[in-house]
Amino acid sequence: MNEEPSMSPSHGIQIAAMFLCVGCAFALSVSPTSARSSTILKANGPSAAQGLAGLDQSVIDDLVAANRILADQGVLDAFGHISVRDPRDAQHYLMSHWVAPALVTANDISVYDLDSNPVEKSEASRRLYSERYIHGEIYKVRSDVMAIVHTHSPTVVAFGVSGIPFKPILLNAAFLGEIVPVFEIRNQFGADTNLLIDSPGRGMALTEALGGHSVVLMRGHGDVAVGQNIQVAVWNAYYTEVNARVLQQAMSLGGHVTYLSPGEIKTLAEGYARFADRPWQLWKRRVMVENGKAK
Ligand code: MN
Repeated sequence: MNEEPSMSPSHGIQIAAMFLCVGCAFALSVSPTSARSSTILKANGPSAAQGLAGLDQSVIDDLVAANRILADQGVLDAFGHISVRDPRDAQHYLMSHWVAPALVTANDISVYDLDSNPVEKSEASRRLYSERYIHGEIYKVRSDVMAIVHTHSPTVVAFGVSGIPFKPILLNAAFLGEIVPVFEIRNQFGADTNLLIDSPGRGMALTEALGGHSVVLMRGHGDVAVGQNIQVAVWNAYYTEVNARVLQQAMSLGGHVTYLSPGEIKTLAEGYARFADRPWQLWKRRVMVENGKAK
């Protein structure tokens, strides 16, 4: 079946577009779940989920793209998830139900309240991510956060368990700040947990560890990256993994590692968001469909 490229291009700062389109009415049609077959993106078309009527389709398209992008880049594997705050209502967020990120389609996206319950009762029958409380609890506290990524980013885990400070060493990772906090679930919940953020209380504790940072590591688990829009959140999740990889390589050389200075971090972090659209367009193109085939 031939299909036109389904993702509408994203221009400029995404969050601006999201808010500009609040109130726009779009007719959403249903894309069959059976169409889910690969990392090929088929975001356009519609969502069957109630509660999405009136939402700019580009918000859903970008959320689906973000899932595919981070899977394509090896930041997400079968686990992890991405959410975006609902541009129509700051007390809601949008996220897939229980699906591996590479397989997420528009049809999988649902609306959640900040207690991480599906807004539409019919959605309750779907299997949901057990760690969705990460998203709701952070959105409650961080009004500046418009998108959240939770990963099991492999190289990052090494820093969460080693006691070696995780600090930025490359310019695209300045958002990490001078040092990245590590959430230790044992501190509040004991030594026998499943390590999952599968309750509101654990979500609150993780949010507290995140504080005002862009990223928090989760010991033995992964990390959470937040952003002022979905492009920045994806950038932050991706370059957290890259920074971990390069830092690990630099340490293995055995010499003295030079981290970004506080001044460099401040200078770089102030302006990087305006660059986030560039890798976003590249990564999005890689997961788009053209004439039924992955580009
Ligand atoms: Mn997890």
